[in-house]
Amino acid sequence: MSKSKSAETVKVVVRCRPMNEKERAANYERVVTVDVKLGQVAVRNPRGSSPHEHPKVFTFDSVYDWNSKQVDLYDETFRPLVDSVLLGFNGTIFAYGQTGTGKTYTMEGVRNDPERRGVIPNSFEHIFTHISRSQNQQYLVRASYLEIYQEEIRDLLSKDQSRRLELKERPDTGVYVKDLSSFVTKSVREIEHVMNVGNQNRSVGSTNMNEHSSRSHAIFVITIECSETGLDEECHIRVGKLNLVDLAGSERQAKTGAQGERLKEATKINLSLSALGNVISALVDGRSTHIPYRDSKLTRLLQDSLGGNARTVMVANIGPASYNVEETLTTLRYSNRAKNIKNKPRINEDPKDALLREFQEEIARLKAQLEKKSGRRKKKRRRRRGGEAGDDGADDGEEDEDEEEEEDPVPVGDKTDYWRVQQEKLEKEKNAILEDHSLVAEDKLRLLKEKERKMDDLRREKEASELLSSKIKAMESKLLVGGKNIVDHTNEQQKIIELKRKEIAEQKRREREMQQQVECQDEETLELKETYSSLQQEVDIKTKKLKKLFAKLQAVKSEIQDIQDSHIKERQDLEQTQNELTRELKLKTLIMENFIPLEEKSKIENRAFFDEEDDCWKLRPITRIENDQKMMTRPVSAVGYRRPLSQHARLAMMMRPDVRFRAENILLLELDMPGRTTKEYEEPVIAPKVAAALEDALRDEDEIQVDARLYSAGSLGVGLGIGIGLSASSGSLGAISPGSGTSAGGSTKKPKSGRPKTGKKVSTPTSAHSPSAMGHSLYPQSRGLVPK
Ligand code: ADP
Ligand code: MG
Repeated sequence: MSKSKSAETVKVVVRCRPMNEKERAANYERVVTVDVKLGQVAVRNPRGSSPHEHPKVFTFDSVYDWNSKQVDLYDETFRPLVDSVLLGFNGTIFAYGQTGTGKTYTMEGVRNDPERRGVIPNSFEHIFTHISRSQNQQYLVRASYLEIYQEEIRDLLSKDQSRRLELKERPDTGVYVKDLSSFVTKSVREIEHVMNVGNQNRSVGSTNMNEHSSRSHAIFVITIECSETGLDEECHIRVGKLNLVDLAGSERQAKTGAQGERLKEATKINLSLSALGNVISALVDGRSTHIPYRDSKLTRLLQDSLGGNARTVMVANIGPASYNVEETLTTLRYSNRAKNIKNKPRINEDPKDALLREFQEEIARLKAQLEKKSGRRKKKRRRRRGGEAGDDGADDGEEDEDEEEEEDPVPVGDKTDYWRVQQEKLEKEKNAILEDHSLVAEDKLRLLKEKERKMDDLRREKEASELLSSKIKAMESKLLVGGKNIVDHTNEQQKIIELKRKEIAEQKRREREMQQQVECQDEETLELKETYSSLQQEVDIKTKKLKKLFAKLQAVKSEIQDIQDSHIKERQDLEQTQNELTRELKLKTLIMENFIPLEEKSKIENRAFFDEEDDCWKLRPITRIENDQKMMTRPVSAVGYRRPLSQHARLAMMMRPDVRFRAENILLLELDMPGRTTKEYEEPVIAPKVAAALEDALRDEDEIQVDARLYSAGSLGVGLGIGIGLSASSGSLGAISPGSGTSAGGSTKKPKSGRPKTGKKVSTPTSAHSPSAMGHSLYPQSRGLVPK
């Protein structure tokens, strides 16, 4: 991996997942064939009109079929990329494809299974192993995790998941996400933890994880900074940034009656993805001068990865089954275009925003500070030793001790010892003063106070330098240095294995490239090789060639047709969206025209401006316009009032609450109650006769003894009788279903009356009975009202 400045193309690989259970159960045809050796994918048309229709063939840098292992992909395709990131290049991996084709599987894979781990966890292992084997280098690794959903950026590692971040641009460092949190990680375990936290946050924010993940883009960013002393004896820092992008599903989003929020989805949902497509088209189409990076958040953020300073790998994921054929073809065409993007990767050396540099400088500063502290201490002691000869005896004693100590300076590691000794000494002195009876009480107090103060000073100083050294330690621990277990035997073996794997991968790649070249040349040189012995032979060979070319022409023609079809579909889609938006706009205009005074509208229009940065309309703050007297001056107000008030109005205001004379709050806030439309409730008047009858009836009820058994049997009896009678009277009915008349609930046939039958007493209600009796069968009754 050299420090190349030359252009290199985006590497595109295709991966086809195996048939899943459902597809196998439904017996779907496999329409995709993968030629791993040649790096070709062929897709057959499942509804091909002619059986001889040629499959569509696409050639890529490499292709992986359903048997491919995660580790194969990593070693062949991703490892070289991560290696170059470790060298200081930028690298990006995109996973593109329809939902359910294995994008997340490729990027993340199955977390707890080393065999099925995806690129992200594999790269963790790779990076930290590399660092542990490095020598004379210092590394700083940090990770960020973000998501773009409906053109809003969410930091998946921040505590506040409701916050949306903004994109900013700086001339020196380019586009970045403002306030995006990043975590310095010291080991595989730590960075895995970061990933897990992000994944959890990703699912927390969404009600339907499947839908959410298929509509959002997740970007895991690893920044690796490495500092090394160069040949010029200067310390140089290289920064490599690895973007691992799990894109939203590429399928057409089903639009479901766009309204409100839905509309927002329908129009914004794949803005980033379609913008990505437009950027790719613009990049590969030599004529366009404008690359629409600014059209979406994703393309802006990953601008460097598309035609800029980065190495880029795109993994196109496809499914093998026939019902996905259209999406599969779209994906293949899309990624086929991406092959032609040219990047200009270079090593990022000594960038201004290297965190590692900041760390190193901070550590140096703290160390100097610590040094100064201990230096000052020494100086202080020396001064004391020189100048205070006439001090009292107790002090003299200590000075000697001090001197002894200074003769052999305290080694850095023994700092704690030093502090302990100092403290003990002060303690001892304090005790000596306490026990010294020769001193006057006042002196004693003074000396004691002094010692106390010294002890305090000492303690404070100790705390400060402890804080400093712990800070240094914490910062230093974040900087990783390798070479610790370089002699480790397993490490060596692993290294050899990895090297071999790398060689094999390289070999395979070369083989594939050669095959592709041979294939290509075959056609071109076919002609040159031939020398024709006879005219007939020439005709034969040329016919053969013609046939071949004709087939090719047909393939290209059908491809053109397909692309036209898909363009038409796309255009219809866009037109539909446009119609929806126009309708929405009309509604908004209607609302505006009806509810917003023209004057206000024009005021707002004058103040509004479009902020390209945030992609939204904003209002300028209201400013006083020069020379506009209306804005400049306010009418002189009466004291305490907002408006000038006449005496009359003031008086009137005090007298009665007339709206007309109110200076402030001219609205009456009490509710206007509507006029009444009902009368007061009046009790009904009951004639004495009726009252007596009622009372009689109620008394009766209390006295009635009910025997439920008797009652039901009796009523059933009545029911049977009548039922039979009924079927007899309407002969045809009885004939059709003999049981209907006597049915005990099973039949759904209605009795003649047209009322539904219920329960056991089905046949009781008939037209032969009085209305009161009918009522009693249909509705639950109180026990008291037994038919008489
Ligand atoms: P996407 O992220 O593209 O929507 P996923 O990665 O979630 O798709 O994959 C859908 C399903 O297919 C998952 O259950 C995954 O395990 C399975 N799958 C995808 N690719 C492969 C593969 N190469 N080998 C085995 N299983 C796969
Ligand atoms: Mg996914």
